[in-house]
Amino acid sequence: MEKRKDFLPYGLPFITEKEVEEVSNVIRSGWWSKGPKTMEFEKKFAEYVGAKHAIALNSCTAALHLALVAKGIGPGDEVITTSMSFTSTSNTILHAGATPVFADIDESTGLIDPAEIERHITPRTKAIVPVHYAGQACDMDAIHAIAEKHGLFVSEDAAHAVSATYKGQLIGGGEKCQAASFSFYATKNLATGEGGMLTTNDDELAERARVLSLHGMDRNAWNRYQKGGSWHYDVVAPGFKYNMTDIAAALGLCQLELLPQMQEIRERYAAIYDDAFSRLNAITLQRQVPYGRNARHLYYIRVQEDKLTIDRNEFIEKLSAYNIGTSVHFIPIHLHPYYQEHLGTKEGDYPKAEHFYSQIISLPLYPSMTEEDIKYVAMSVGEIAEKYAK
Ligand SMILES: *Cc1c(COP(=O)(O)O)cnc(C)c1O
Repeated sequence: MEKRKDFLPYGLPFITEKEVEEVSNVIRSGWWSKGPKTMEFEKKFAEYVGAKHAIALNSCTAALHLALVAKGIGPGDEVITTSMSFTSTSNTILHAGATPVFADIDESTGLIDPAEIERHITPRTKAIVPVHYAGQACDMDAIHAIAEKHGLFVSEDAAHAVSATYKGQLIGGGEKCQAASFSFYATKNLATGEGGMLTTNDDELAERARVLSLHGMDRNAWNRYQKGGSWHYDVVAPGFKYNMTDIAAALGLCQLELLPQMQEIRERYAAIYDDAFSRLNAITLQRQVPYGRNARHLYYIRVQEDKLTIDRNEFIEKLSAYNIGTSVHFIPIHLHPYYQEHLGTKEGDYPKAEHFYSQIISLPLYPSMTEEDIKYVAMSVGEIAEKYAK
């Protein structure tokens, strides 16, 4: 097969003329910070997922942090999460002053294993931060049952889960959802460059998170600078500067409209990959959970080291020679130097996450790719797997 001349990037956003136009309108309007567009985006996002409240923020990291702080999680508390995530999942637990405690995964899905959560509960455990890894929901009934039994707060890291469902309910909505944090980072399924959203059905949590997201002031700038608005505000907590801008919200509103179309393309492309790779015995695919829709945020393959003469790193290099950009999601958090030095975690602590990590490669999957791009990646993976088969 002939190798392509141009490089296929790992991720790119999906942009239409409407985005360009809407952002230009906001810039011309003169109201760039949090204002009417942000509020409209919050309202539409809340309606979309079926949540009572949605608070637009400048990142998912901000949302994860706020959820914990607004719930009063702090020094002395332990929060159970997964090591198979982006570092902000556990960094934000540290930002809140609490201690992250990792639980191992189910290797067939990369998702946190509820039995492992249960095993790590102590009298200091106050919350669980499950991650809907790659776009599939965690086993939320099992996690909620553990949380109820021990009186724990559940803050879902939904960075990969815009449009994912659990038993027919979109992630971030529904009665059981206490807090969910979404990411609108440039490579995520719904992108605003930088951005995030915290959804919740808890009125008190929403109110606190809202105040904390803007310096701990009891009234936001839009209210203060509107005609008839008062200049006065009270600072009721040492809050943060976490609000979204109207420029980002204008992108978010366009992307929310495009979401069904983008999701359809992701699913169609993922099916092409699935079909091509199911024939390769050196490649293992993500197990599809029976209880929900996969948002198909990440498409990863697991390279079976015992069936190939090359390892995962070499496989990535071979793909790079085909001009294909890839990534690895994620380096287990407990292996990063800071965590090893400050939490005393070490290699061998979470064998499943470590083994999973040694096998995974994330392939490009995004709606602005063409079907030819997808087929090219599929054929390249196939050629490499066959050439280096044991
Ligand atoms: C991207 C990501 C985040 C952080 O999102 P930001 O919007 O960049 O702060 C958190 N958790 C996971 C699992 C992610 O992939």
